[in-house]
Amino acid sequence: MEMKPLEIYKHLPKKNCKECGFPTCLAFAMQLAKQNVELSRCPYISQGAEEILGTASRPPIRGITVGSGEKSVEIGNEKVLFRHEEKFYNQSLLAVEIVDTMGEKEIEEKLKRITSIRFERVGEMLELDAICVKERSGDLEKFKRVLTLCKASDFPLIIISHNVKFLKTAGESLSSENPVVGFAEKETLEKICKIAKKYGASIIVRDETLEGVAKLAERAKSQGIEEIILSCGEKSPSERLKDLTAMRRAAIKKGMDALGYPVMTVLTDNDPLQNTLNASIYLAKYSSLIVFPDIPPEDALALLTLRQNIYTDPQKPLQMEPDLYKIGSPDKTSPVLLTTNFSLTYFTVAGDAESSGIPCYLLVCDTEGLSVLTAFAADKLTPKKISKFIEKTEIGKKVDHREIIIPGLVSKMSGALEEKSGWKVVVGPKDSKDLKGFLERYRRG
Ligand code: SF4
Repeated sequence: MEMKPLEIYKHLPKKNCKECGFPTCLAFAMQLAKQNVELSRCPYISQGAEEILGTASRPPIRGITVGSGEKSVEIGNEKVLFRHEEKFYNQSLLAVEIVDTMGEKEIEEKLKRITSIRFERVGEMLELDAICVKERSGDLEKFKRVLTLCKASDFPLIIISHNVKFLKTAGESLSSENPVVGFAEKETLEKICKIAKKYGASIIVRDETLEGVAKLAERAKSQGIEEIILSCGEKSPSERLKDLTAMRRAAIKKGMDALGYPVMTVLTDNDPLQNTLNASIYLAKYSSLIVFPDIPPEDALALLTLRQNIYTDPQKPLQMEPDLYKIGSPDKTSPVLLTTNFSLTYFTVAGDAESSGIPCYLLVCDTEGLSVLTAFAADKLTPKKISKFIEKTEIGKKVDHREIIIPGLVSKMSGALEEKSGWKVVVGPKDSKDLKGFLERYRRG
């Protein structure tokens, strides 16, 4: 349940010792209220206070890590209903199912296809995240072989079976992989909790109703399981949307602990396009894990782009790493261009420079993600800053000239920049679409 900073402060030790990293207990209380820090950062919390404040410092939707190693992903850990209130933290995980009745060759081909779905967009690699293995064969040996094939793909694995024996086998063979196992239902919950505890798995609890799901989550918690994913079974898109919204609202606004877990959605339509449309609803509102029977690459492109947009921080512009970038294979005589680290600016300038066919260096200066003119107006792109950046990147060692081409929009700074940096400043075009002609004339001297 949300607590105000002063309510939290009442339960803190009031030593103002700074050991939590904040100057006062009140400052720490303010961060706790925003759920920006863990209560455990204060070593002097009494047991009584811990019981009261424990929930205040925990995000209303718990975070769960799925998978191990490089491809592991966190879901949940969300604090707000609407993205503009803060931001959404962990993007919905997109998984594709492998059914254990499929032939080995078919599975290998599908895994290859899933792995090959990758798109680069504004400097970020967009790809699918996980495999969901569905047991339908009733054949334990076959199931084990499918697990081995999927394990080799390195994707985080979600294992679905209604048979506890199969889930135990999955737990055993994936104990180092941090898998997810389900469905834990009314009759099987305690048995599946034991498996999850023994093999370090997360569990999916499933019931058709919200009340049923909440009860199962409470039962799992009483068994010592915290890594829980909720599922409300098969529903129409409108019913599911109602459930997803009600669950998020109950956890965030009403402090209903039992619904404060990531939620899973399994798509079951026979039409891939309908599944893609439905997934776009659940991406927007609030499914943490979406399982597709399969997904064509063009549909994946649309959903991954949508997901990227939903999960960017609305208060922060998309940014590139400030650095010296090469366009083509520049040499010591190549032109040196300056731009800012707003992603859109970078990709536009880099694209236009590349299509000029003239290799060059691109100095991408840190302007906290602001575009050229905004950064200049906000004093984020100054002669002093650019001069320091020229030194930091050691561009002077890579070229045998001392000329820097600045965007035409900031021609005003050329005198000050020449003075500060010692480099000759050449004013480039105002619009990077004119770079081709500009660079050709520049090369001819
Ligand atoms: Fe206060 Fe605890 Fe932080 Fe010390 S460590 S300032 S007692 S909250």
